[in-house]
Amino acid sequence: MLTFEELGLKPEILKAILEIGFENPTPIQEKTIPHLLTTQQDLIALAQTGSGKTAAFGLPVINQIDADSKRTQAIILCPTRELAIQIAKDFDAFTKYTKKLDVLPVYGGSSIEAQIKSLNKGAQIVVGTPGRVVDLINRKKLKLEDIQWVVLDEADEMLNMGFKDDLDFILSHTPESRQTLLFSATMSREVLRISNDYMNSPEEISSGKRNQ
Ligand code: ADP
Ligand code: MG
Repeated sequence: MLTFEELGLKPEILKAILEIGFENPTPIQEKTIPHLLTTQQDLIALAQTGSGKTAAFGLPVINQIDADSKRTQAIILCPTRELAIQIAKDFDAFTKYTKKLDVLPVYGGSSIEAQIKSLNKGAQIVVGTPGRVVDLINRKKLKLEDIQWVVLDEADEMLNMGFKDDLDFILSHTPESRQTLLFSATMSREVLRISNDYMNSPEEISSGKRNQ
């Protein structure tokens, strides 16, 4: 079994992981983290709920964000407000000892003005539900030029919930040079279409039993 040290993460991130209490990477983390730290290749990761997907995409993205720039470099898309809040909270724990990184959750049913204010101050990582992210892009408050990573978390759920058009909009407005990471418990026809339309020869990683 590999250790987090062996995966190539920075010491300040290892310190935070140790404090959180993770001892060894889960199987999906063991496969995705080295891939994301060493290649620009797109990635589809299929793994069941509870397999540690947030750290699987979060740790390598955080490891590579430029903390000296306040510009938004990563967008994480997820199906619900609760998930956006949870992911942002996990990222705050992962970044406890890094140079200051702002992680901003954005979602509907909550004041867009407050979110715009936070965006104006600069957030290197935005975690949001697709509808609100589209609103912020349309209002030109969320700038996409420096996006290097787009993560689709629970892609199957987002598609089941009817976010297909929003995902199309967001993916077609982010730089072609981005690395696109798709995490899903299941591989549906719609997930495959998103991957065919917006990903470049993705590496496919799966771990354990997928959800049915
Ligand atoms: P998923 O997104 O695959 O459903 P999460 O990323 O939410 O899974 O992780 C599920 C739980 O496992 C969380 O409570 C998280 O803190 C914990 N966890 C993640 N990675 C590890 C690890 N390497 N060691 C121990 N616990 C972990
Ligand atoms: Mg998850």
